[in-house]
Amino acid sequence: MDFSITEQQKSLRAEIIHFARQELNEGVVARDKEQVFSHAHWRHCAGTGILGFPVDQCYRGRQLDALSTAMALEALGYGCTDGGLVFSLCAHLLACVVPIWKHGNDEQKQKYLPGLCDGSLIGMHAMTEPVAGSDPFAMATRAEPEGNGWRINGTKTLISNGSVGDVAIVYALTNPQKGFHGGSTAFLIDRNTQGFSLGENFNKLGLRTSMLSELHFDNVSVPESAILGTVGGGSSIFTTAMDWERTLLGASLVGTMERLLETSIQRARKRFQFNQSIGKFQAISHKIADMKVQLEAARLLTYQSAWRLDHHKSASLDAAMTKLFVSESLVKSALDTVQIHGGYGYMTDYEVERALRDAIGSTLYSGTSEIQRNIIAQWLGI
Ligand SMILES: Cc1cc2nc3c(=O)[nH]c(=O)nc-3n(C[C@H](O)[C@H](O)[C@H](O)COP(=O)(O)OP(=O)(O)OC[C@H]3O[C@@H](n4cnc5c(N)ncnc54)[C@H](O)[C@@H]3O)c2cc1C
Repeated sequence: MDFSITEQQKSLRAEIIHFARQELNEGVVARDKEQVFSHAHWRHCAGTGILGFPVDQCYRGRQLDALSTAMALEALGYGCTDGGLVFSLCAHLLACVVPIWKHGNDEQKQKYLPGLCDGSLIGMHAMTEPVAGSDPFAMATRAEPEGNGWRINGTKTLISNGSVGDVAIVYALTNPQKGFHGGSTAFLIDRNTQGFSLGENFNKLGLRTSMLSELHFDNVSVPESAILGTVGGGSSIFTTAMDWERTLLGASLVGTMERLLETSIQRARKRFQFNQSIGKFQAISHKIADMKVQLEAARLLTYQSAWRLDHHKSASLDAAMTKLFVSESLVKSALDTVQIHGGYGYMTDYEVERALRDAIGSTLYSGTSEIQRNIIAQWLGI
């Protein structure tokens, strides 16, 4: 594995950081307070190709390999201080666009990818249900054959981009006897389909500029052409979504960790107490040293997992390790950043408490830390 950065990747990184700082950060404190999703910022991101980083150019993507996508999302997480926007973009790209790009037939790719990449459509990925969170085997949403298609009934909850999304990948049981593996199917369902309605919009601790909602499917009729992949193949679509999301959303969090490290170093140098900079106190400098070690380890895990995605090797173990380590390191880094800033770190205008609030969700979404540990243990034969 060679992770030396090419000139192309270097200029991509510079481009994304410059774009994010210029275009995405203004007004984020107010948007976070009001819990506002910004369609204008979304459209700006579409202009840079963020919404379709790995997708082929013929579908209006930027055709980056997974490692370059990781570096570009890392740059986004570093340059953009709106954690909710970055999260929404990643959920759209990694759990909706990528599975369509990887598993969709030509007709589905033509229908959805150009719009998802150019910003005219927003994607969702709907797995979680009120009684089926960590345990997809408890899924209650059903799809039953109806004429030349399927009739879907059920409720999905905690769905990112729920109130603003246009198309959702929705998992339903097509063969309850077989359960999730072999008995679940992924459907592409448009927002305006009759019977598809929006439930509760959740208020959240963090990621407040990203919308999270409940979705209801009440006798929703879809044609056979709405099936993504194969009947009974839902678990393989889900694996693709999670391998990409756990790896590459992780990349954006690595970028955030780097930003928090720099913010902490600046504060440690500039803030004087007891006639010296606080960075001279070992209690502070050791926190910063630990942040640096965690950042570099997190980046290497992320790049390794992205490399495996590029080389078509199974990435599920690497993705779980990346997700677990990056999210827990991010939470720790964000907590330390608040501590290093003292009382000011607790104040909204310093924009450090928001990073902590945004970070906490990372140990929950895309499978909790406990579930990542279960997956890793399973791969180790335990
Ligand atoms: C910000 C955010 C965005 C999200 N976006 C989406 C989305 O776009 N699409 C989507 O489908 N879902 C989404 N989710 C839902 C997310 O995937 C679930 O919250 C997550 O899988 C956990 O399910 P749960 O909340 O029902 O918790 P539960 O499964 O009820 O878990 C509760 C606790 O029990 C632990 N636990 C459960 N089972 C085990 C076990 N076997 N071993 C050890 N511990 C266990 C969990 O780790 C957790 O600590 C999102 C969640 C958040 C917070």
